[in-house]
Amino acid sequence: MSLAHGRHYLAIPGPSVMPDRVLQAMHRPAPNIYYGALAEMTDAMIPDLKRVACTEGHVAIYIANGHGVWEASLANVAAPGEAMLALCTGRFGFGWAETAARMGIAVERMDFGLQAPVDPARLQERLRADTDHAIRVITMVQVDTATSVRSDVAAVRRAIDAAGHPALLMVDCIASLGVDEMRMDDWGADVVITASQKGLMTPPGLGFVFFSDRARSRRAEMANVSMYWDWVPRSEPEMFYQYFNGTAPTHHLYGLREALNMLHEEGMENVWARHAILARTVWAAVEAWGKGGPLAFNIADPALRSHAVTTLAIGKDHGPRLRRWLTEEAGVTLGIGLGMETVEKRDSDGYFRIAHMGHVNAHMVLGVLGTIEAGMTALGIPHGKGALEAAAAVCARV
Ligand SMILES: *Cc1c(COP(=O)(O)O)cnc(C)c1O
Repeated sequence: MSLAHGRHYLAIPGPSVMPDRVLQAMHRPAPNIYYGALAEMTDAMIPDLKRVACTEGHVAIYIANGHGVWEASLANVAAPGEAMLALCTGRFGFGWAETAARMGIAVERMDFGLQAPVDPARLQERLRADTDHAIRVITMVQVDTATSVRSDVAAVRRAIDAAGHPALLMVDCIASLGVDEMRMDDWGADVVITASQKGLMTPPGLGFVFFSDRARSRRAEMANVSMYWDWVPRSEPEMFYQYFNGTAPTHHLYGLREALNMLHEEGMENVWARHAILARTVWAAVEAWGKGGPLAFNIADPALRSHAVTTLAIGKDHGPRLRRWLTEEAGVTLGIGLGMETVEKRDSDGYFRIAHMGHVNAHMVLGVLGTIEAGMTALGIPHGKGALEAAAAVCARV
C-alpha cells in the first residue's frame, strides 16, 4: 500500500509544473506554418517575452534547451581565440565555461566555491589587471540551480563599470527568470539567456537569448556566426520561418503564449513577491527541522538564497532514502543533489533540493513540507519540531 496515488508533484528545479492552461493551449491540431494566426501570435509574443526580462532590447528564440542557448549566445559575441571570463558559483557557471572552451574560446574560470555568490570586488581587481581589455565577455549565473546561491547582477555591472572595462556582461537566468527579480536593462546586462521549462512553465524545448544594442553591435563585428545560432534573422525576421531558422516549434509556442498570459495577468512584481514568500515558507520549516537534526542550508545567509530552489544538506545516507520515500510513498519527487562533491568532501547524495519555481502556490509548498516531515518521521531521521507551524505562519503573513 502506498499513499502516492493522486496527482504526482515534480518538485524539482526544471522541468517545473506545467499549468493546465498551458497544457490545454497545446492540445490542438497542427496549425498553418506559412502565414496567419500562428505567425501573428508569435509577432505579438515578442514584447510580452521582453517584459519578463524587463528589457526593451532584442530577443531570439531557439528550439533548444539551456545548454543550447549557452552556445547560441556565445556564438554571436565571442570568436574562437577571444578571451572570456567565467564567474562560477556552482555547477552551471562551469557548464557554460565548458561550452565556450569547446567552441575554441579562451576561457578563464573564476571560482567562488559552492556556498558563495560572485564577489564583485574580486572581479573588479581582475578586470583592472586586464589593461589591454583582452577579455571580451564575462559570464555569470544569476541563480546557480545546484547550490541555490543567487548573485547580484547589478553589483557585478557596477564592478565592471568601476574597472572601466568594456567586456559584455552575459547572465544565465535559466533558473531565475520569471521567479527572482531580474531587470535586464536597469541592471546593465548585455545578454540574458533562459529556457522554457523553469519559471516560464512551458515544456523543455525552447531557449531564449535577450540582447542589448551593445551586444548587437558586437555581433556586427563578428567575421562568422553559425547559420543556426545567428540571432540576426531570428530577432529581425522578414519571413516567419526566420524566427526559428526552419520549422516553427508550433505547440511550444501555444504553450508559451498561455504561460506569458498567466505571468502578465499576475504581474511580474507579484510573481516575484509570490516566489519570495514561498521561498521563505520553505526556509522557515528548514530552520525548525535543523534545530533537532542533520538538515542544514547550503547557503546560510537568506539574502544570498534564490527564490527558485533551496539546496539542503542532510547527510550522505539520508538524501537518497528521503527522496525515494517521498516519491514512492507520497507522490512527490524532490531534486537530487548536484555538483556538491567538494563541500566538506561530502558527495552529492548528502544533498537534495526543493524547487519552488513557476506554477506553485501556498498549498503546493505546504504540501511538500508536510510530506518531507512525514518522510523524516517514517525513516527515523531526527528533526526539530514546529516546522509546519512556522511555515504556515509565513504563508499567513501574520
Ligand atoms: C537548468 C539550467 C541550465 C541547463 O538547462 P538545460 O535546459 O537542462 O540545458 C543551465 N543553467 C541553469 C542556471 C539552469 O538552472
